[in-house]
Amino acid sequence: MEWDIKLLKKITRIYKSGITTKITLVIILVAVVSAAFSGFLTLYISKKQFGSYIDREGLQIAERYSIIIESYYLLNGSLEGLNFILNKPAYITGQKGGPGFHQVVARRIIVTDDKSMVVADSAGVLLNEKIGSVQNDMFSFPVILDDDQIATFYIFNPLKKGISSLENTFIQNISKQISNSILIVAAVALLLGIFLARRITKPISALSSGIHEVAKGNLEVRLQPRGDKEFVLLANSFNLMAEQLYEHEQSRNSLVANIAHELRTPLSILRGQLESVQSGNIKLTEEISSSLVDEVIRLTRLVKDLETVGLAESGALKLSLETIGIKEITDRLIPLRLAMEENKIDFTIEWEKGMGHIKVDVNRITQVLINLLTNAIRHLDENGKIRLKISSDNQKVIFAVQDNGPGIAEDDLKRIFERFYRVDESRDRELGGTGLGLAIARSYITAHGGEMWVESGVEKGSTFYFSIPQV
Ligand code: ADP
Repeated sequence: MEWDIKLLKKITRIYKSGITTKITLVIILVAVVSAAFSGFLTLYISKKQFGSYIDREGLQIAERYSIIIESYYLLNGSLEGLNFILNKPAYITGQKGGPGFHQVVARRIIVTDDKSMVVADSAGVLLNEKIGSVQNDMFSFPVILDDDQIATFYIFNPLKKGISSLENTFIQNISKQISNSILIVAAVALLLGIFLARRITKPISALSSGIHEVAKGNLEVRLQPRGDKEFVLLANSFNLMAEQLYEHEQSRNSLVANIAHELRTPLSILRGQLESVQSGNIKLTEEISSSLVDEVIRLTRLVKDLETVGLAESGALKLSLETIGIKEITDRLIPLRLAMEENKIDFTIEWEKGMGHIKVDVNRITQVLINLLTNAIRHLDENGKIRLKISSDNQKVIFAVQDNGPGIAEDDLKRIFERFYRVDESRDRELGGTGLGLAIARSYITAHGGEMWVESGVEKGSTFYFSIPQV
């Protein structure tokens, strides 16, 4: 009982122990069990082989001799006097005066009758005695006549004696070898187990310390993608996760810095002017108050745009989708036409006849078009041209806003959709841009399952495209 509890406690301890111990123990167990199993199998097979080792020559002699016994029995009606013929070779070999049969085969021969009484013994020792159990060094052969066993023939088996002692030595040797090999196998399994377990636990510990670092806020930690395929995959996934967290963190930091930067200018203008009014340096004229209102409007727009960007980036942007025709969208752009007329801009809208409907959030898509058209208006001088072209293939509707303005340099093109990225900061700010227009437009299009891109070059004008999946 006490032993049972101890064993149970040991097993529980192993179960709770680390992966190294478990793997090592399992490998040792499997190796020892298979070594022991194959050892015992070898022992068993060897024993069987020894047991079935046959004295073929003896068997042939016995067969031949049983015919003589049979004929003798048939001739005399009993086996009495059979001992005599053992020494009379004429009966067996047909040569008068030759050696007895047992002398020919050079083996001791005993014959018993159906009552186990010895009727012939070439050694003459057991004659007329009851034979006990079969001697170890002899094998027996029944003599059968008409389904009755009339006699048993015993012949000395020289192999049997030799084999049993050989068998004992062999079995002893093999048992020793088996226990030795079990020990060797256990030792090899132990080494192998430790090696294998290390191989598995090493990357796991690396991963665990990597996770620990990330938890502490170190997002620059990376793992070496080494070792087995699964660990390479794990390390790569970890690195990807760390990279994304790092990028998010960077983008969050830059967003905060950008917001602070964007707020600073209008706030300092407001503060400066209000302080001057307060100290009596300047009078609160209509002009001053309207410039103050302008700054407040700019601030309000910035806050609104930031709110939209925040919603879009957190994936919380809700679309109220409706299926509408292209005309309904273009009609919403009429107010912009006034601004275009004022700037003497030639604005054309083209779309393919018979175009289907699209499923969109009309307000958001109108906002995207307004952002793109406003940008184009801002960058065009007198006699500028803007063309809105809407086309479709089977899967999507593509909107293209093309202008013949100054275009965008290649370096700026790469960053044009980033939050707060402006090509010419002071000019764009003056013109009322927050640097968020394209970022907002792109997030709206992405929310619709579409894409937005631009083609432009210095002095080549710009074309902004976006696609919306067709209903
Ligand atoms: P904003 O809201 O300040 O206009 P955007 O995100 O809309 O900011 O635009 C980013 C930058 O891309 C701006 O600095 C602007 O100068 C440039 N840009 C946008 N549209 C055009 C265009 N059609 N032609 C030339 N530059 C453009």
